[in-house]
Amino acid sequence: MRVTFILRCTVCGEENYLSEKNKKNTPDRLEVNKYCPRCRKQTLHKEKTKR
Ligand SMILES: [Zn+2]
Repeated sequence: MRVTFILRCTVCGEENYLSEKNKKNTPDRLEVNKYCPRCRKQTLHKEKTKR
């Protein structure tokens, strides 16, 4: 059971990454540090579920 979601920069709100996960293994919202091209640095990205 896999779901697709967007990783959104918490600083500028840019939606930078499309990813997927197993809902059974990872039920919580993901928070990861990734490079944001708009901020031009590593920022905290949070999961935004795509419907
Ligand atoms: Zn950003």
